[in-house]
Amino acid sequence: MHHFSYRRGVSHASVLHAEDVDLSALADAVGTPFYCYSTATLERHYQVFADAFAGAPDTLVCYSIKANSNLGVLASLARLGSGMDVVSEGELRRALAVNVPAERIAFSGVGKTKEEMAFALDADIFAFNVESEEELRGLSEVAAARGKNARIALRVNPDVDAKTHHKIATGRAENKFGVPFERALSLYQLAAELPGILPVGAHMHIGSQITDLEPFRNAFALLTELVGTLRDAGFEIEFVNLGGGLGIPYRNDEAPPPLPTDYAALVKQALGNLGVRLLFEPGRMIAGNAGILVSRVLSVKHVGAKTFTIIDAAMNDLIRPTLYEAHHEIIPVIGPARGTPNVLTDVVGPICETGDYLALNRPLPELHAGDLIAVMTAGAYGAVLASQYNSRLLVPEVLVSGSQHCVTRPRPSYDDMLAAERLPDWA
Ligand SMILES: *Cc1c(COP(=O)(O)O)cnc(C)c1O
Repeated sequence: MHHFSYRRGVSHASVLHAEDVDLSALADAVGTPFYCYSTATLERHYQVFADAFAGAPDTLVCYSIKANSNLGVLASLARLGSGMDVVSEGELRRALAVNVPAERIAFSGVGKTKEEMAFALDADIFAFNVESEEELRGLSEVAAARGKNARIALRVNPDVDAKTHHKIATGRAENKFGVPFERALSLYQLAAELPGILPVGAHMHIGSQITDLEPFRNAFALLTELVGTLRDAGFEIEFVNLGGGLGIPYRNDEAPPPLPTDYAALVKQALGNLGVRLLFEPGRMIAGNAGILVSRVLSVKHVGAKTFTIIDAAMNDLIRPTLYEAHHEIIPVIGPARGTPNVLTDVVGPICETGDYLALNRPLPELHAGDLIAVMTAGAYGAVLASQYNSRLLVPEVLVSGSQHCVTRPRPSYDDMLAAERLPDWA
């Protein structure tokens, strides 16, 4: 469910809108390419996820900032009471900047620096998700030196196959994440002895874009077993963090992934009676469908039997197709006249890389220079992964709410881009 749909527009009979905003008019105002996010969609996804756990024991949804860290997006979610899952000091500062209470912030990540630990301790965050013995010892040192106690959950790697793209699977033994299940108890025992460490939770996150409940079921069974083992050993486990990872529909021609309510039913069945607070770290599930990338066609090139639609967005703006072989639906912003035939085309950017494409061999209504297209489901792992490769200006982000819009991250100028760098004296 999202709030991008065709409606009668300012100058055309059928124009894609973001809520009540005409995207053709917005493109004229902001310039292309740009990301556009829908507040109503973000809010709805957060609410659907949170509501799925209504009636379950104490739960805390910590939106995973790395999916989309735009301050307007974060502020919209913070307003609904969302907690945040952060993986760096930068993300923690973003959460604090939009007034997320520290007691709703969890700090994940396989490589936290001492400086980041100190900053998070001073902010009094809810908990650290600790990923190794070395991190545990380092955190203990930093906490003890500051007279603080770090509440921790050990991130346990359950060695389950999340059945997702190999670059976003995190719960296999060969992945860098977490500690092996068999080592967990001895590390909790170590944690209990270390100064400044309170081992009060358990954490797992097995991957992203998971479209089958089975891997979750296996992971939750292991977590339940772990909590039992820890309690038998005398640990008071207050919370269990189930991570994120629930998949979303990217294609119109595929069966949709499990609904949040299906996921929640599984959670309640597996962990509902443990008497622990349940934390969740959904990212993609909240932001994915709430964003699109709007781009303009620069030219259409015919080479033999092939057609290339060259657009002004590129892999530096949205790298998911290149990095993950990801599929994004692409639709024209101006609704095509009935009966317009589809032609097969590669939709490519201007970057000097063969991997610079947003779609290959895609049936699309015939496009011409100047036409606008929307790359759908680009709200998660889109703008956050953007770069200035080829010295292209960083893509702007626009947040819509009803008929209002705000350019929450403006496009920098070329002067801004050059002014960010320094020349050495000797050059
Ligand atoms: C990336 C990440 C998430 C969010 O994953 P989604 O698939 O976007 O829900 C949650 N927790 C941790 C620890 C992560 O690294």
